Formats: sequence, C-alpha cells, structure tokens
Amino acid sequence: MENVKALTPEQIFGDYVFNETVMRSKLSKAAYKVLKETIDSGAPLDSSVADEVASAMKEWAIEKGATHYTHWFQPMTGITAEKHDAFISPTGDGRVVMEFSGKELIKGEPDASSFPSGGLRETASARGYTAWDCTSPAFVKEGTLYIPTAFFSYTGEILDKKAPLLRSVEALSNQALRVLKAFGNTTSKQVISTVGPEQEYFLINRELYEKRVDLLLTGRTLFGAKPPKGQELEDQYFARLRIKIVDFMHDLDEELWKLGITAKTKHNEVAPAQHELAIIFDPASVAADHNLLVMEMMKKVAKKHGLAALLHEKPFAGINGSGKHINWSMATDDGLNLLEPSMKPAENIHFLVFLAAVIKAVDEYAELLRLSVASAGNDHRLGANEAPPAIISMYVGEELNAIIEAIISGNTYEDSGRVKTNLGVSSLPVITEDAADRNRTSPFAFTGNKFEFRMCGSANNIAEPCFTLNTIVAKELSEIAGALEMAEDVESAAIKIIKEIASAHNRIIFNGNNYSAEWVEEAARRGLPNIGNTVHAIKEIKSEKNKAVFEQMGVLTETEIESRYEILLENYSKTINVEALTLIDMIERQLLPSTFGYALKLSEISEKTGSNAAKVRLEQITTLADNMDSNLAALKDAVNTAIVNCPFETALNYRERVVQAMEDARAVIDATESIVPADVWPVPVYCDMLFRV
Ligand code: ADP
Ligand code: MG
Repeated sequence: MENVKALTPEQIFGDYVFNETVMRSKLSKAAYKVLKETIDSGAPLDSSVADEVASAMKEWAIEKGATHYTHWFQPMTGITAEKHDAFISPTGDGRVVMEFSGKELIKGEPDASSFPSGGLRETASARGYTAWDCTSPAFVKEGTLYIPTAFFSYTGEILDKKAPLLRSVEALSNQALRVLKAFGNTTSKQVISTVGPEQEYFLINRELYEKRVDLLLTGRTLFGAKPPKGQELEDQYFARLRIKIVDFMHDLDEELWKLGITAKTKHNEVAPAQHELAIIFDPASVAADHNLLVMEMMKKVAKKHGLAALLHEKPFAGINGSGKHINWSMATDDGLNLLEPSMKPAENIHFLVFLAAVIKAVDEYAELLRLSVASAGNDHRLGANEAPPAIISMYVGEELNAIIEAIISGNTYEDSGRVKTNLGVSSLPVITEDAADRNRTSPFAFTGNKFEFRMCGSANNIAEPCFTLNTIVAKELSEIAGALEMAEDVESAAIKIIKEIASAHNRIIFNGNNYSAEWVEEAARRGLPNIGNTVHAIKEIKSEKNKAVFEQMGVLTETEIESRYEILLENYSKTINVEALTLIDMIERQLLPSTFGYALKLSEISEKTGSNAAKVRLEQITTLADNMDSNLAALKDAVNTAIVNCPFETALNYRERVVQAMEDARAVIDATESIVPADVWPVPVYCDMLFRV
C-alpha cells in the first residue's frame, strides 16, 4: 500500500447513508420529527410525510450519483434480492424528469413467484410486497438508492428473514420493558436487542478460484488432498498481514465506512488464508443488514484485488471452517445494558433476572437455536470433528457460576475479589482481571456484558439466529414479568424466580471443554439435545412447544412456520443436489480423463523402458480410475433416487445417501490426486490455493 495520505474514517464515514444528519438537513422540522418517532419507537409512519421523505431521499441520492432506486430484501434463499427502477418519468415532450413518490418509497410489488415460499404462493397468485423498514437506513451503492424492506405475500404472510427479526425486536422490547417497569423503571421507553457480528472468511487467488467449478457453483472444494502443511504450526492466527491482504482490507474498510458500517477489527484467523472482520454492534435489524453488506463487499473488493473471498462454512476439508460469532445483548433506549453485571453482580438483582431469562430460554429452546444456525454448509462444522459442537450449552465464567451455585444452595456468595496483576514487572500496568475467562469452546458464552453465540455459519443470514434468540428470551421475560407484576415485594419475588430458574436449568451451564468426547456423554446424561445435522434440526420447528413460542410472541404464524419448514427442507435438498451434480460433472469431464491420460503415459513408459516403477504406478492408477468410476456410478444412483414424495424423506436421502456417496468419491479422488503429476491434475490443489495468495 502506498503511503499517500488517504481520507480519514471520520471524513468518509456514512457518506453514502441517508442518516440522521442528512434527514435533519433535508427534511422540514415537522417531517423529521414524524420520521424519527417511527424509527425510534415504531410508531406507524404518517403517509402525509412519506412524499416529503421520498423527495428528500431522491434529491440526496441523485447528489450521490444515483439514477435508480431498489427495494432491498432478504428472501428465504438467505441472500439479498434487488430490482432496480430508474427515477425517470416521461414528461410527454420527449424528455424525462426524475421522480420518486412516497408510495414508491413505502411499498414495492416484486413479482414474487420465483422466490421460495413453501407453498404459500402459487405461481398464478404471485403477488408479493416489500415494505420499507425505516429502522435500517437507506444508502446509495453503485448508482442506486437502496431501501431496506421486509418481504411478504399478497395474503400477508412473511416470506423473508427480515420481517420476523423486526417482529422479534418488538416482542423483546415489550416484554423486557414489563420487567423493567415491575422493578420501578419509569424512564426507559424501549429495549433494543444489540448485535455485533464477527465474520470469518477465506481469501484465495482469483485465477485459481476461477479454475475450480466446485468453488464457483457450490462455494466449497468438493475434493482436494491434504497438503503437506495445514494449520498445525499455529502460525496464521493473528500473524502479520501480508501486503496483498493489507491492501484488500484497507479498501474493504473504506467501502464499509462509506456505507456507515463500523468495520473495527481485522486479523488473520487460524487456518491458512483465513481472516476475520468484526464490526461494532448495532440494533439487531441494522446489524443484520450491515453483515449482509459486509459479505457482499468482501466479494466485490476481493475481485478488484485479484482475489476471491470464500464465505462458505467449509471451503477446505482438514483445516478450520468459517463461522460468525454473534455478540448479543439487550439495552434500553436510555443507555442501560441489561446484561451488565457491574462490579458486584451478586447484588445486582436486575442483572441476575435478565441473565436467568437467557439461561432458561437457551435450555428450553436449545433445538430452536440449533435450527437457527443449521445449513448444509454448517453441517461440516457443527457436530463434525470441528468447533463448535452441535450440543448447545452455556458458559458463564467462574464468578457468575459461583453466584448461581450460591443462589441454588441458599448460601451467601463470598466475593473473593478480582485478581490484580502486573506479572511482577513493576513497569507494566496493573490489570484487573475479568470476571470470566474466555472459554473458546463454548457455543454460547457470557463475555463480560453480552453473550457470544458462536454456532452461526459464515454464510448464514444472522437475522435467523437473532430473531430466534430475541423470541425465546422475550417468552421467558413475559413469564417473569407476569410473576413480578403480581408480586407484593418485587425484590424477593425476583430472588425466588432466579433461584427457581437456576435450579431447574443448571444443566445447560457447562464451563469445561466442549470439544471433548466426555462432554458428549455428559450432555446426554443431562438430557441436552445433540442434533447432528440440518435435516433433523429442521424437524424441530414443527414441535408443539417450538411452534407455540413463535406464535405466542407474534413472530411467526402457524402458516408461516409450515412454509418455512418446507422451504428449509427444499433448500437443503437443492444445495446437496447441486454439489452432487457438480462433483459428477468434474469427475466425468476433468478428473477421469486426466487420470486416463496419465495411465496411458505410464503404460507407454512401462512398455518402452520396461520400468518397474512405471508398471507399479500404472497398476495403482488403473485401480484408482476404476474405483473412481464405480464411485461415480454410485453417486449418480444416489442422486437419481433421492427425490421421493415427502420433502423430509427427500432431504434425509440427500443427507444420508448422497452426502455419503460424495464422501466416498472424494476419498478416491484425493488418493488419485496425491500420485498424479502436478501438471496433469486438471484443477488447482489445496497447497496452491491456501499458500499462494
Ligand atoms: P471480545 O473481545 O469479547 O470478542 P469485543 O469488545 O472485541 O469483545 O467485541 C466483539 C463484538 O461484540 C464487537 O462487535 C462488539 O461491538 C460487540 N459488542 C460489544 N458489546 C456489545 C453489546 N452490549 N451487545 C452486542 N454486541 C456487543
Ligand atoms: Mg469475540
């Protein structure tokens, strides 16, 4: 990177965002006030100001180079969708003017028939709507004004991941406020679910990426022999950033800052070619939008730098996959973090009540949390031989654990005081240690004043785990609020509730090593669910308990749950189908032909020179080619017979038979790759992709 003085983050931050500063300068006082009310407290937007807001937005967007606008939404495919309309309107005399009405801002009507709906929409009744989500700011990108929206059907059922998130945010706010009010809080008007996502990803050389059809079509390598070096030297985590990566990260930061996204932390991750970017936390709906933009910009900026950003959960076997840590808490609009323990958590009843609600929620609805992060890609991580495990448990740290134990046993908690240290070196500053150490193996860890949910896949939309978490915590808070509202002495009622929850749900707390085999056994003894794959996780949405919590909290209706069940299954089956067809294509058109070519060469050498070494290799390679061919036939058969009448059975066929057939084929391919000459093998190998970035 050249050391020319670039603009500072302060100068460019939010340049392309229709944020509060812009609103204040472009709108009349009255319109600004109405819009702000809607954004802050969810009051319905008065349609009289919509035209004014639209016109101000258009003017501002044109200044930023926009010619089009789009309603940006998040269909169930997990990716974003957009259709661009120009601001133009003909004047009748052969010219156009730029127009944008309040109606166009508030509502869009995309033809929805080609988005997954799980039977909610027939092609014949394809009407769908997008509705402006003003809680997440509009922005200009590549000449278009982007308006964040929620997507729903003609009949009013939601078809996306954003709408349930918005509903869950309201549910959480309502229930948390009831608890706060019961404690005598009169100042807070809203409770916000705060979310800070950390995004892992891989960067590889674009030329190599383009040469692998599997990366292009499925996002992961479907085969590839183990390279001589992996991550065993532990020399990549936090390592010095290479020049090419520094340049990429710098550009990415700038692009994100311009979009008002607080790109904060960047570093190398554990696996070779793996990196991470964290942004500062936002309200959940904004965080979800921002994370989607982070993923999109990673891909775009990478392309500019001759790189490819891989967001799949498991691009390469044998080294770490990528996830997304979701830091989550609840805060009041007047600035109180409800999961802040303070220096004396044992005396902080307030905090303990909210903590108890989260503990109970995670224990009672572990299956739903598991479902919220389930995907074909994430199946390679959760429950496979990699972190994090598929079993959900919580880590609270020593101090909180001791407090909880004391509450259960009825003993008073002895505060042993925090350790202070300067390591015995008087020139080093004295550091007070945190109440909780880090437990890197826990899927759901308390990290000081927030929880970190670590099971999300790197390619997932975080809206899903966020709305699940909000919903289940809202449900527990509603019960707690009910009890507190009836109580004469709120404080002692609260202590009673904390004690009951701590005793009944203690099993979900586990502070040990989550990767150990003993934990799997121990968790089974405790009765904690261990759901090994996506198909079985999807089934959980249909249990009475799980349906009830979404319905009671007003986040998903029964019809919406049914449709999501179908969509999730279908999406899983289609994903595996594409992977299988890609592998078939690569074996048939690339791998087998190259292997035969090498066999021919060996047979020539062996014939002409009588070389024993060539003869041995020829036998080896001929056997491998035969095995590859029979594995190919088995894979084709598994794919051809996977689809049956029932969507669940179909998905299970893909999971159990097709995935297995792909793994069997892979074993032979990898064995072949490791003895075929480098210049004969038709696609880039792991060593080149991971180490020649
Ligand atoms: P850690 O070192 O535990 O990973 P950091 O301070 O680096 O913690 O924060 C990690 C992420 O957690 C960041 O995105 C940060 O903005 C976010 N975060 C911090 N406080 C909160 C909170 N109260 N609610 C949600 N996210 C938070
Ligand atoms: Mg962290």
